[in-house]
This record gives sequence, structure tokens and C-alpha cells, in this order.
Amino acid sequence: MRFTPQDEQFRAEVREWLEANLTGEFAGLRGAGGPGREHERHDERLAWNQHLAAAGWTCLGWPAEHGGRGASLVQQVIFYEEYARAGAPTRVSIVGEELLGPTLIAFGTPEQHERFLPPIRAVRELWCQGYSEPGAGSDLAGVATRAALDGDHWVINGQKTWTSLAHLADWCFVLARTEAGSRRGAGLSYLLVPMDQPGVTVRPIRQMTGTAEFNEVFFDDARTPAANVVGAPGDGWRVAKATLAIERGAAMLGQQVGFRRELEDLADEARRTGAARDPLIRDRLARAWIGLHVIRCYALDTLGTDDPARASVLKVLWSRWHRDLGELAMHITGGIAAPGSPGYHRWQRLFLFSRADTIYGGSDEIQHEIIATRALGLPRS
Ligand SMILES: Cc1cc2nc3c(=O)[nH]c(=O)nc-3n(C[C@H](O)[C@H](O)[C@H](O)COP(=O)(O)OP(=O)(O)OC[C@H]3O[C@@H](n4cnc5c(N)ncnc54)[C@H](O)[C@@H]3O)c2cc1C
Repeated sequence: MRFTPQDEQFRAEVREWLEANLTGEFAGLRGAGGPGREHERHDERLAWNQHLAAAGWTCLGWPAEHGGRGASLVQQVIFYEEYARAGAPTRVSIVGEELLGPTLIAFGTPEQHERFLPPIRAVRELWCQGYSEPGAGSDLAGVATRAALDGDHWVINGQKTWTSLAHLADWCFVLARTEAGSRRGAGLSYLLVPMDQPGVTVRPIRQMTGTAEFNEVFFDDARTPAANVVGAPGDGWRVAKATLAIERGAAMLGQQVGFRRELEDLADEARRTGAARDPLIRDRLARAWIGLHVIRCYALDTLGTDDPARASVLKVLWSRWHRDLGELAMHITGGIAAPGSPGYHRWQRLFLFSRADTIYGGSDEIQHEIIATRALGLPRS
């Protein structure tokens, strides 16, 4: 990938805007809401997100006719790099902006575009992803949540789990079985379900970081209008897989800049504590630096391709790198304190949360399976 003079001009524009706007009421938000810290300053981050939206800095890759900027992939990389470099806070609208929005643009009806895209773009409605269930995680086609038409509404019954940010979401995209007796990917539908109704119960799951980023979500005769199905009823598996492809691919843009900040901060910590004099620590810090360069090169090289094996390689590379950084941080800072105790600090939280990186968005083992079959041509296990 080459950055043209126009790209560099775009970079300067993004950088200037962030510098000028991460000030005043937003000045204290730098770095807020990172891994394991999603509970931090939600309302202020929401206000910041809405401020970004008002200036046209949300949904960059969406086509202009749907309210986006129609930004090229290169420009999106630049935006996310500058965003991370500025230490801007983690956005609260990622699920809607980066997962549901592109899926709706590809598969939704004009009426769905009109109803759902503007509030995502303006960050007036937040979304969560209702895929996983107690019996359907890696094996997502095992979804058992049911939905049936009752007049002009779908009625939904079942349970989702590990639903990130469901406690803050206005809507959930739910993968549900709408053809009784169907199996696996057949007979599933992709439904858009409002969260604020008596039939939806959200129960937080306390994580080992001490916070509750994800939840169980129960549907007991929950309802949504019949028109809120994306794609044809029964064709939800195809739509759901398209969302997963987005999740494993472009949505990871620019995060390596955030990783770089973490690594640089950790090197500072090693200097401060004297750990930087330990040859083994120096060696591991240097290896982490090399690993980050490899990830960046691979990410840039992979952009714009829709090869699932490449997306899987990238997921394995970054998730392991981040998990290893958490472990290195423990060596440097000297071990773990109980969440919430006075000694509990940023690095311990990173260590604990980064254990999730090799699980969500498709676990390591599932990525290996994709690489084995798609890249190496091995038979399915
Ligand atoms: C922080 C976090 C946030 C999440 N957010 C969401 C969300 O917002 N919405 C949502 O729907 N889900 C979410 N998930 C769920 C996530 O997608 C699942 O955890 C993941 O798909 C794994 O499913 P599982 O937990 O049921 O584990 P399982 O599928 O039961 O897997 C257990 C273990 O067995 C291994 N395994 C499973 N199948 C195979 C196989 N065929 N070959 C080899 N090994 C295998 C897995 O790799 C894993 O190590 C989140 C998870 C985490 C950790």
C-alpha cells in the first residue's frame, strides 16, 4: 500500500480535527474505554461519538448515498491510525457502524436503510450482536432461539449469551430459527429486535476483569415487526456469515496503532521500574516490536482482499500478539492483584481482558480450521 499526497492531506485533516476537538469537555477522554475498561465514562464517550458523527467522522466507509463518506480503505486505515495515535476514546457505536450497517447496506431493503442507517450514523441508536447461545458458539449453526410470525410480528423465544454491550444497546440483531424442524444453517433468519420491551431480559455476566462487558439476553415472547428481517426469511445464515466476514476483516483496521501505544507505554513502564535492564525483558519487548511490524505489514497486504484464510491469519496474529503483551506486562509490573483492589492497575486489566482476544470473533482453533481447509486444502475435520 502506498500513501498518495492526497492520502497524506487526508491524514493531516484527521489529525488536525482530532487535536482541535479532543479538548474542552472531551479533553479528559483520551484513552478511555479500552480493553476491559468499556464501563468507563460511557455517557461522555457517547457524547463524543455524537460529536464525531456531527462532523461526518462516523461510518467513513459507507457509501455517500447512505450517509457515509465513501472513504477508500486506505483513508479508513489512516483515520483509525490517527484516531488511535491521538488516544481518542473507544467508540460506543462500533457494532452498529461496523457490523450491522455494512450488512444492512448489502442485504437490507430501502425501507430498512431509511429506518435504521441514519440513527446508526448519528449515534442515536446503539446495537448489539445476538449470535452466540449456550449451545451455539463456535458451532453457530446450532442456534436454537426460535421466532415465529404472529400476524404482523415475529415472536422470539430463546437465550443468547456473551452479548457485548447488550445492557447499553437499543437494538439487537438476532439469529433465530424461523422454520420449525430445520437444522444447521437452513431455516434461520436475521431479525432486528428492539431491546426496550417486556420480553427482553438482560443479565450481566461478571468477567474476571471485575467488569461486565457482556451479558446473557433472554427472549420471552419478545416481538419485532414482520418487516424487521434482513434478507429473506430462512436465508439468515448467509446474512450472518457476511457480518462475520466483516468482523474478521476490515473492522480491525488501525488497531495496531493502539497496540503500538500499549507497547510503548509498557516499555516506559519497564524503564521506570528498572525491568528494562533485564536482558530477557528487553528481548521480549524487542520481539513484541518485531511482531507488531509483521502484523502491520500483513494487515496492509490483506486489506481489500476477501480471502477468509488471510482474515484468519490476521486474527491469529493480532490476538496472540495482544495476549502475549498482557503476559509480558505481568512480568514487568510484577503480577496480579484482585480486580477492584487498590493494587489493581491498567496492566492487570489488559492481561485479564486480552485472554478473550483469542476467543471472540472466532476462536484460535476455528481460525486454524479455516486456514487448514481454505489455505492448505485439507479435508474438513
Ligand atoms: C469478550 C467476548 C465478547 C463476545 N461478544 C459477543 C457478542 O457480542 N455477540 C455474540 O453473539 N457472541 C459474542 N461472544 C461469543 C464468541 O463469539 C464465542 O465465545 C466464540 O464464538 C466461542 O464460542 P463458545 O464460547 O461457545 O466456545 P465453544 O464453541 O464451546 O468452544 C470451546 C473451546 O472448544 C474449541 N472448539 C470448538 N469447536 C472446535 C472445533 N471444531 N475444532 C477445534 N476446537 C474447537 C474452541 O476453540 C474453544 O477453545 C463474545 C466472546 C467474548 C470472549
